[in-house]
Amino acid sequence: MSKDSLAQQNVIVTGGARGIGREYALRFADRGANVAIVDLDLESYTEYDYETEQMTADTVDAEIANRGVESLAFEVDVTDPRAVQRMVESVVDEWGTVDVLVANAGGGDGSMSDTHASELPPEHLRATVERNLYGTVYSCVAVAPHMKTQRSGSIVTVASQAGRTVLGDGTYAHYGAAKAGVIMYTKYLAQDLGRYGITVNAIAPGYIETGKLRSALESGGGSEVVEEQIALGRLGTTTDCAAIVEFLATPAADYVTGCVIPVDGGSTLR
Ligand code: NDP
Repeated sequence: MSKDSLAQQNVIVTGGARGIGREYALRFADRGANVAIVDLDLESYTEYDYETEQMTADTVDAEIANRGVESLAFEVDVTDPRAVQRMVESVVDEWGTVDVLVANAGGGDGSMSDTHASELPPEHLRATVERNLYGTVYSCVAVAPHMKTQRSGSIVTVASQAGRTVLGDGTYAHYGAAKAGVIMYTKYLAQDLGRYGITVNAIAPGYIETGKLRSALESGGGSEVVEEQIALGRLGTTTDCAAIVEFLATPAADYVTGCVIPVDGGSTLR
């Protein structure tokens, strides 16, 4: 069965309380979809002034409800498979279906200086692989039975330019390895779910301007060095990513599956 337009679709966005995840959630809400936000802390945006200044309500789920669609919110750790399972059951109990999953929760652990490939501390490796790869797998596994029953659905996972190519001087190796895992898992899942009419794709963002990235660039000497590596010469925006995720969830992408779409302004061309 083909996906319908995004209006009245039921969408789950993990890591949706701030950053790029918030933009995905608001984009779907603007298209008339109901959106469930999943995050460790539904007020995680307060960590960065840049994120806080953009908020139009106390939480992202309140911002969604203010758009006239339904919202749900769950403080759930995506590395806990049972909690993720319960969250998805709650969404289906409430709304009847889950049509779109954006498995966005992720990020690295540790600093640039202590994450070279040859010296990775086990605690940073474990935390980062669990958050990015396990969290993605648990989220996908939890929605899959419902989408199979529906014989429709779209899953978008979130990789990174770091999962496609080695950046800089080889730091953040654990994050790159975890995101490469997300990419390969996405392809396996696309193969597995294709016969149910479910599409599974990944986006691989480059340097996207969020509170977290701005803070990292400020402490690392500014954005100029990074911008020089980008063919388009600028940082990406959260809306650059949301536009592609929206496309992947619409009928326009019904025959697109198992793909990894770089949203990086050309930073991985060379
Ligand atoms: P942020 O850290 O700003 O937002 C991620 C959100 O996910 C946070 O609210 C975070 O909560 C939450 N989260 C982290 N771990 C878990 C967990 N175990 N369970 C539930 N929620 C969790 O990240 P971005 O918006 O920058 O990035 C979003 C995604 O895009 C990530 O997967 C990231 O790796 C990827 N990406 C981002 C790029 C960028 O330039 N910004 C580039 C390439 C990829 P908390 O703050 O409490 O930890």
